[in-house]
Amino acid sequence: MKQGILPEYDYDVVIIGGGPAGYTAGIYAARAALKTLLIEGAGTVSQITITDIIENYPGIPDGIGGFELMQLFKKQALKFGLEVLPKDVTAVNTSSSSTPVTWEVTAGDKVYKTLSIIAATGAMWRSLGVPGESEFAGKGVSYCATCDGPFYRNRDVVVVGGGDTAIQEALFLTHFAKKVFVIHRRDRLRAAGMLQKRAFAEKKIEFVWNATVEEISGSDFVTGVKVKDVTTGKIRTITADGAFIFVGRLPYTSMFKGLVDMDKAGFIVTDENLRTNAAGLFAAGDCRSKLFRQVITAAGDGANAVHSVELYIDEVKGQTY
Ligand code: NAP
Repeated sequence: MKQGILPEYDYDVVIIGGGPAGYTAGIYAARAALKTLLIEGAGTVSQITITDIIENYPGIPDGIGGFELMQLFKKQALKFGLEVLPKDVTAVNTSSSSTPVTWEVTAGDKVYKTLSIIAATGAMWRSLGVPGESEFAGKGVSYCATCDGPFYRNRDVVVVGGGDTAIQEALFLTHFAKKVFVIHRRDRLRAAGMLQKRAFAEKKIEFVWNATVEEISGSDFVTGVKVKDVTTGKIRTITADGAFIFVGRLPYTSMFKGLVDMDKAGFIVTDENLRTNAAGLFAAGDCRSKLFRQVITAAGDGANAVHSVELYIDEVKGQTY
């Protein structure tokens, strides 16, 4: 990197996002004595905080609620002196003409100047927006088969969607469920051929083609899903205890638009060391383009991103050894 006069700045790194990736980055950055600010959304929450129970986070054999786990991440980060700002980021800008690059992060009425940023803004499952969906969230409606699949042993479930996620998760659910109905709005899948082949060969999976979900019904918990055949207009109810919805994800990355390479779905593209194509901008967790989105992989990203930030800051400050 071309060395220049160090510009004025407030922080070595600003972490944007208060989920597992952000707070793990916060723990590592604070421990590394980087001057760090973590900005967690005031108007948004991490997906993990609405997850009932996490049974696959290593070291916690009895499982833990998502909200509780995030409180522990936060407690650990604060112990190391992490500065946290609960505000929504409204703009991110860069002075790409100067060397080294400085970044400006606007939150509330303040602008924070930083040498680097870790984008840990996450993603949200896209919802269907049908009646019953929000009412039964966590009571039979789920957006994560890895998290909730084991609760549906020997029960019937529906999966909505026809992409890679829907088919991969439907296959995963066959390890537990008695029957998995895959409801797809068209007559062919979007998922990769290999996944399709496996799903078509799986006896527990029954496809419901050309069908849209009109309503998710139940009393205390989900009992069924009302579907409409889009070719005939006929409506019928499929009896099921769970409705898994995989109709795509929406990344929270609009604040980085035009500043960094993204894939066609809007997820930030990084290399394996979490560096983006923009100097000083790193990305971690669900907001980056990758295959497997879990708490553990987000936390791993957070740690790796900070290591890359440390190397970058050393270089910027001419302290590389
Ligand atoms: P996706 O590829 O965008 O697929 C979303 C699916 O949901 C599509 O089948 C779509 O139907 C359907 N859908 C969207 N809106 C709907 C609605 N309102 N009502 C009913 N159905 C609706 O999303 P994804 O499966 O989550 O995958 C996201 C990205 O991650 C993709 O690039 C995918 O390749 C990648 N991924 C890869 C793997 C893997 O390689 N193992 C695993 C998971 C994800 P249409 O088909 O009719 O549009």
